[in-house]
Amino acid sequence: SVVTRFAPSPTGYLHVGGARTALYSWLVAKASGGEFVLRIEDTDRERSTQPAIDAILEGMQWLGLNWDQGPFYQTQRFDRYQAYIDQLLAEDKAYKCYCSQERLEKMREEQMARGEKPRYDGHCRDNPDAKGDSYVIRFRNPQTGVVRFDDHIRGPIEFANTELDDLIIARSDGTPTYNFCVVIDDWEMNITHVIRGEDHINNTPRQINIFQALGAPVPEYAHVSMILGDDGKKLSKRHGAVSVMQYRDDGYLPQAVLNYLVRLGWSHGDQEIFSVDEMIALFKLDDVNKAASAFNTEKLNWLNQHYMKNLPASEVAEHLQWHFAEQGLDPANGPALETLIELQADRVKTLKEMVEVSRYFYEDFTDFEAGAAKKHLRGVAREPLEVVQQRLAALETWQADAIQAVIHATAEQLEVGMGKVGMPLRVAVTGGGNSPSLDLTLAQIPQAKALARIQMALD
Ligand code: GLU
Repeated sequence: SVVTRFAPSPTGYLHVGGARTALYSWLVAKASGGEFVLRIEDTDRERSTQPAIDAILEGMQWLGLNWDQGPFYQTQRFDRYQAYIDQLLAEDKAYKCYCSQERLEKMREEQMARGEKPRYDGHCRDNPDAKGDSYVIRFRNPQTGVVRFDDHIRGPIEFANTELDDLIIARSDGTPTYNFCVVIDDWEMNITHVIRGEDHINNTPRQINIFQALGAPVPEYAHVSMILGDDGKKLSKRHGAVSVMQYRDDGYLPQAVLNYLVRLGWSHGDQEIFSVDEMIALFKLDDVNKAASAFNTEKLNWLNQHYMKNLPASEVAEHLQWHFAEQGLDPANGPALETLIELQADRVKTLKEMVEVSRYFYEDFTDFEAGAAKKHLRGVAREPLEVVQQRLAALETWQADAIQAVIHATAEQLEVGMGKVGMPLRVAVTGGGNSPSLDLTLAQIPQAKALARIQMALD
């Protein structure tokens, strides 16, 4: 049965490209009732950090990309790698290489001077007399023939073995190298589909040769293309957020980010909105685009708004709650979050923005927004605000339709347009010139509080 994996190197946060690779791998496993493995490739001890591991796990959890096995850590599997290194040495499929740094450097310089691609010249490969103070272990790569694989995204790919040199599989301190660990892990973890970034294409033929030397089944491969920024350059911090958790912090829903990521390089007709179940049902590795995809924040915003409006409000509320805490606001002091979502989802792009523009529901303010106050409060007729204040004070049911009727009656009484009443009232109770429809807004602010705010505007 199908087993896929996500195998990040914990040298930084979970970035958008990694998250998309993880999503694709996860979908392939889910689609066939298979398993999804999480493997932390932490053999580079200098660059791997615990905070990065935590950030990756947190990102995966936030996106809902649950794993069936793992997380496995390569640093905890050194004895496994060692066993296979010993086996390859015993079978003469690997050999000790005593070449000194100086010799290798000189070799490289000479090759470059001749315009050749630097590669190990095989000095110790068939030299039983090779000796030295220390050695590395190299894999005996075939010297003839080709390595072929049929990439699910890029089609048939072929490398001549003459282009590959004898890869170091263990360093002089005995530690196994990256390409070797990946093969052992993919084998022992029964990975059937290796889905990863296109930056690994050159590793694939080397890895396939090692699989074959071990007599292990070779998995299928899919190399996913890069993500570019909207300027056509490789996506980086310059383009804004690249860390998945930054998207949470910026107020995006995980459903929106997942939907965004699945479409970044894959399509199904002209459908844009995919629930997770639809993704699982419709996603096909072979339909993934070979061309690089460009990041488009507008589209992410659009999706986020769609999900804010269309997911069950209770689900959105859970995420919104986090942003309340983040912005130091207590949701208990104002309308229920489900109500707020109904009022504001149309008016904002993100949950963060929703909290920012909703503060007046949950806490008092001491200043009116300068521009709005100048236009609608200061130096304009006080009468509409005074009359509407009295009428609102007299209301016995504090509900939107009654409030709306009061605003109407005030405008009629004074023979002015609705705006002459509504705008000063809006600035008075919300502190600014932007809010959802005024009757609905007022209905969510307790009567006494609304009246006090009007008084503050009049004072
Ligand atoms: N650890 C590699 C990376 O983070 C992925 C290797 C793989 O998927 O085979 O780029």
